[in-house]
Amino acid sequence: MDTPNNSDIDKLLYKLVFQFSIYALGSNKQLDPLLVKINKSLKQGLNYHSLTPEFIALSKTLAHISKQEKSTDGNASPSSIEYQRYLIDRLNKLLAETDIPFKFQRQYKLLQQKSRIKKPNGEDTKKAIDLALSLLFSIKDQALSEQHDIEDFFSKFSKQFMLLGEHVADVGKSNEASIENSKNLSDAINVQVDNIKSSSANAVELSSLQKNIAQHIQELSLQCQQHQEKENSQLLESQKQLSLMTEKLQQLEVETDSLRSNLKVVHDKALSDALTGLPNRMAYDERIKIEFNRWHRYKSPLSLVIWDIDLFKSINDTYGHKAGDNTLAIVAQLLSANCRKTDFIARYGGEEFVMLLPNTTSAQTLIVAEKIRPIIANSGFNYHGESIKLTISCGISQFSEGDEQETAFERADQALYLSKEQGRNKCSIIDK
Ligand code: GH3
Ligand code: MG
Ligand code: MG
Repeated sequence: MDTPNNSDIDKLLYKLVFQFSIYALGSNKQLDPLLVKINKSLKQGLNYHSLTPEFIALSKTLAHISKQEKSTDGNASPSSIEYQRYLIDRLNKLLAETDIPFKFQRQYKLLQQKSRIKKPNGEDTKKAIDLALSLLFSIKDQALSEQHDIEDFFSKFSKQFMLLGEHVADVGKSNEASIENSKNLSDAINVQVDNIKSSSANAVELSSLQKNIAQHIQELSLQCQQHQEKENSQLLESQKQLSLMTEKLQQLEVETDSLRSNLKVVHDKALSDALTGLPNRMAYDERIKIEFNRWHRYKSPLSLVIWDIDLFKSINDTYGHKAGDNTLAIVAQLLSANCRKTDFIARYGGEEFVMLLPNTTSAQTLIVAEKIRPIIANSGFNYHGESIKLTISCGISQFSEGDEQETAFERADQALYLSKEQGRNKCSIIDK
């Protein structure tokens, strides 16, 4: 390594002085005028040897500054005190904008006293700053813990309200009998909610608010529970009554069924003729109404036949009433066996029978009647071995436009009279 010569050292010193003048500028007001001058001269290319007076002044100033700092060691320099005052002012402003909780009021007053010291030394101000900072940190910690409490409380609060909501929803499902109960519960809820509102409005501290609200909610829950119990017991009672009613209804149904079938038996009896088993006159009266109305509506042909046993009186007179009764039963059986299922035959009275033939004209009816008439005439009816002459005559008529129930019947009766007149064992038609 080469040993540097004087010229190199000069250059290095020149460079160092220049760099120092730039670096140190602004660090101390006492140094600044000298540094500016040195920097300027060097820039102008002045030999630093010619700056010796400035260097001596710089050295002295540095020595003075160093002495000054040593003498104020432990006491803040004026600029440091200024900064501390600035800090304490800022902290006080910050505290003034903060709600000081009751438990920190004493600490705050102490701080205000400390901040008001007229001629504070560095130590007092430092203490005040520490006090302000510790107060601010305590307030922050307190706020954080209160926030947690609030979150905790409101989560419990909302859970309880959810439960309350479920209770109330259940109440909505109840039946009409519980309307009064529901109204009472609703009133109670309103009272408790009002209480919660006024507690919140008047609350000074969170803890008392929490206590109040928790108490009201507990009362609400209790009322809901009581309501639910009432509802349940009413529901049980309703179910009991319902099953009792169902039982009674079933009994009634059974009784009604038996009554209905009894009634049918009575009705059937009332509508049938005991001797022949055929429908009787009352049944005919019912049936003719139906058939007449159907004919009136659909206009499909409807015919009526009146059958009358010939000289029946003489059968009675000759062979006795018993034989007469048997004759009636046999004729009834032959008449019903030889007509269609859709036809209707009734014993109208005495030895007379009426036949209704829907969808049949009088001409078609005559064919049926002429088939039946010889069947009866040739039935070979005998009584105690004695052959009885049994014939039957009939009158036929078809319902026509403008007819009433009775008019067609009257025509058939006239036709029957005609058959009798013409010698009996005859079928005659009289149409409109
Ligand atoms: P016609 O040929 O003109 O019809 O003469 P008929 O004798 O049949 O007529 P009439 O009206 O003179 O007689 C009917 C008889 O029928 C009179 C009555 O005693 C008898 N009779 C009516 N109902 C019954 C009954 O239920 N049983 C019996 N055995 N006879 C009856
Ligand atoms: Mg007669
Ligand atoms: Mg007769």
